[in-house]
Amino acid sequence: MKIKSIFLDLYYLFFPKTCFGCDKLLSYHENILCSFCQIDISTVCFKDPKHNEIITLMQPLKIYSANALLHFKDKGIVQNLIHQLKYKKQIQIGFFLGNWFAEVIHSQIEFLKVEAIIPVPLHPKRERKRGYNQLDAFGKALAEKLNVPYVKDYMIRNKNTPSLAVSSANLEERERIVQNVFSINPKLQTTYTHFLLIDDVITTGATIKSCAKTLLEKKNAVVRIASISLANF
Ligand SMILES: [Zn+2]
Repeated sequence: MKIKSIFLDLYYLFFPKTCFGCDKLLSYHENILCSFCQIDISTVCFKDPKHNEIITLMQPLKIYSANALLHFKDKGIVQNLIHQLKYKKQIQIGFFLGNWFAEVIHSQIEFLKVEAIIPVPLHPKRERKRGYNQLDAFGKALAEKLNVPYVKDYMIRNKNTPSLAVSSANLEERERIVQNVFSINPKLQTTYTHFLLIDDVITTGATIKSCAKTLLEKKNAVVRIASISLANF
């Protein structure tokens, strides 16, 4: 154990890791964020997963429970984390956030009933360009902790719509842009009906709502939602 920690100390001497929040050097037992930034960061973590802002945004769809890990604020630490995860290939951030969120929702018994974790899919063209779906690591970490499969290709995105994250469209326009964009992958023959749908940022909720609507068209479907972050809250 002692030898291992000496090796780790040496390793980080040559390959130092820095905090994604404050840029300070991390000690070897810290990961992604230093302990100060992790305490400082504003979390959402609804106590009641059945009555909260995400459930309200999803109306009139019947979503059984929903939660989000972090508050998304422009120019804040969370925005930087998601930017690095999404555009800079910092995939380890996804694992870090997935493990963190699993600790939060593990005590919320309804989330333990899910049969499959499904990401909001990217259009294949966009995914090829980026090289990955930014939700993969987050979804895999959650899946491992909740002991259910992460089914990456369960849904398909049929239209390569412009990114709503940078769009100035109002809610009505956003809902129109993402209407009927998703479908369930006909190649996957599964019996899942109880889903945990995951996303990175929920702002107006238009995209994930369209995705949930498609999932709910499946007979007896139950949909729950877990998002890395929630904006405008
Ligand atoms: Zn820090």
